[in-house]
Amino acid sequence: MKKKFETRAIHAGCEPEPFTGAVMTPIFQTSTFVQESPGQKKGYVYARSHNPTRTALETNIASLEEGKYGLAFPSGMSAISTVIRILGTGDHVICCDDVYSGTFRMFEKILSKQNLEFDFVDLSRPEFIEKHIKDNTKIIWIETPSNPLLKITDIETITNIAKSNNILTVADNTFATPFFQNPLDLGVDIVVHSTTKYLNGHSDMIGGAVVTDDRKIYDQVHFFQNATGAAPGPFDCFLALRGIKTLAVRMERHADNAMKIAQFLEKHSNVTNVIYPGLESHPQHELAKRQMSGFGGMITFFIKGGLESARSFLERVEIFSLAESLGGVESLIEHPAIMTHSSLPQEVREKLGISDELIRISVGIENVDDLIDDLDKALL
Ligand SMILES: *Cc1c(COP(=O)(O)O)cnc(C)c1O
Repeated sequence: MKKKFETRAIHAGCEPEPFTGAVMTPIFQTSTFVQESPGQKKGYVYARSHNPTRTALETNIASLEEGKYGLAFPSGMSAISTVIRILGTGDHVICCDDVYSGTFRMFEKILSKQNLEFDFVDLSRPEFIEKHIKDNTKIIWIETPSNPLLKITDIETITNIAKSNNILTVADNTFATPFFQNPLDLGVDIVVHSTTKYLNGHSDMIGGAVVTDDRKIYDQVHFFQNATGAAPGPFDCFLALRGIKTLAVRMERHADNAMKIAQFLEKHSNVTNVIYPGLESHPQHELAKRQMSGFGGMITFFIKGGLESARSFLERVEIFSLAESLGGVESLIEHPAIMTHSSLPQEVREKLGISDELIRISVGIENVDDLIDDLDKALL
């Protein structure tokens, strides 16, 4: 019988180390591995290509994502920039319009100037996708829930459209995590992650991952990874692996706390709108329920009173740290227009609805009463 998620989170890829019996995967802090005779290797050669600590992490994440092959990267951006190399000159990508701002920056500021074409489209409205498909469209890039507006994309509908047009799909599953959503099961070809966020979960490393069921894609992405040097260090792999062991219990608590906080914010008179996929008021709540097994720990809301009100609220919170990033055990809060999404041109922010009143929180796993009390005091 296939082991359940919680069991695989702890054990997949993590056999006791054969030489010493160490139960926890050691940090193989070495750049090279001895050969018995020229070309006769014991399994590992040089740590840019492979390292045992990294292999354990790769096997583990692949298992959680229900995929055959996993690759670990030194950052989420490095995973994304390596995957996108499967494109050739002149290829076209359809990308969701509120994609992670670093992904937007790479596509728009670097790759658009290197003979790749990008269209940023609202993928939460799949009925409009077909008109964006061109002869040279090779990838549809999905991120759901999106950031910061938590729009939900119907993964299965998109992958069906993509398949019938011979287009690959990539899903950035950082926000939902494999605990709440498995894009490969819904037909996606490649899953990417920033392991910096929920997978590691402790805000103490930067990392990324790629998972696929397709051997050809895996070989190609691993070739690019090795050839361009996008190799994560063993210590960061160890930290991610250690963090993942508690992913299931953390995600349950993140989601429970987030639901209670979203309900509290929805009733608060200084809050004009709350976006959380778990709320019935979310326009795609039904889709979220169908596609995800939980709604995650991210909430976005609009505060009354414009920029000044947002600024003073953000200065008043005490338990929530005013910081970029998300997915750690500690609660974070931020102002997307000034912080995480400032690299987007103003007209793009306006079109997406990232206004001065918009606040994003990454709900941690502290006691929820303390978190609500902190917000309540700061909202006045
Ligand atoms: C953070 C993030 C990334 C980039 O990952 P890094 O580890 O910061 O390079 C990509 N996608 C999403 C959804 C993210 O939240």
